[in-house]
Amino acid sequence: MKAPDRYAVFGHPIGHSQSPRIHALFAAATQQAMTYEAEDIPPEGFNDAISRFLGSGGRGLNITVPLKELAFLVADTLSPEAGRSKAVNTLLFSPDGHIHGDNTDGRGLVRDLTLNLGIPLKGRRILILGAGGAARGILEPLLKLEPAQVTLANRTTEKARQLAFEFEDLGPLRALAMAALQDQQYDIILNATAASLQGDVPPLPDQILAAGGCCYDLAYGKEPTPFVLWGLQQGAVLSRDGIGMLVEQAAEAFWLWRGIRPDTPSVIATLRGTH
Ligand code: NDP
Repeated sequence: MKAPDRYAVFGHPIGHSQSPRIHALFAAATQQAMTYEAEDIPPEGFNDAISRFLGSGGRGLNITVPLKELAFLVADTLSPEAGRSKAVNTLLFSPDGHIHGDNTDGRGLVRDLTLNLGIPLKGRRILILGAGGAARGILEPLLKLEPAQVTLANRTTEKARQLAFEFEDLGPLRALAMAALQDQQYDIILNATAASLQGDVPPLPDQILAAGGCCYDLAYGKEPTPFVLWGLQQGAVLSRDGIGMLVEQAAEAFWLWRGIRPDTPSVIATLRGTH
């Protein structure tokens, strides 16, 4: 009998990863014969680990912090999102050794916002906090949905300016200093900073969320994140964390590897403990 196909997630650290659980749920629901493990790979061991995984017949990898830029470098071909963001979170290995790189984070976020949460993006004023890898990965899919404007603001303003410069050909995108957010209003505020992981909320003025507005924290945890709580205090009609994005970006990877789209709402509910 043929051995199950092998997949894994590489990151450093990796102990907290929910990806093995998510892919096990997908595989069981779609009856796929596959294994999926988490491997702690420091950046200096990344290329050797890729060769080892490929050599042992591995079929695909998810890549997380801090290895996404290194994964971009090992890919022979890239999806448009991966090419633009210069970061890869999914690798697909062909039997002849060809490596394809994709970045499914942005598609995952957009699917969670629009399909799961029912938040339309077209014509909306969107504020993205942060200018790191996550912000970089979500800009292209967001701009494709024709928001009225996307504004980037980051603790280090220069990084937001640089990011806006790299993506401004794709749509109405600008960078503002955090201090310049006074008197601004947005329909959707996306927190793509790592502040929640440190128990912080980026400093935002009151009244910045327009009436009927929504907040979304890409970060997630067992409890509502500080930014999700901030959104509720500001009167957001919806204020959610990034569990849905995590599951949707995984489903995009699963689709690339297996050609099957797993049901995601049931997996999101399981992870939230409501199923
Ligand atoms: P990076 O390290 O690349 O970037 C971190 C960003 O957060 C930078 O813009 C940094 O600002 C900012 N930041 C860090 N600490 C603070 C703070 N205390 N106050 C304000 N800003 C801060 O991380 P990523 O972009 O990869 O990840 C960002 C978040 O997105 C994380 O919480 C991560 O868990 C989440 N994420 C979620 C995913 C999901 O599927 N749900 C997928 C990918 C990421 P500066 O430039 O000034 O240092």
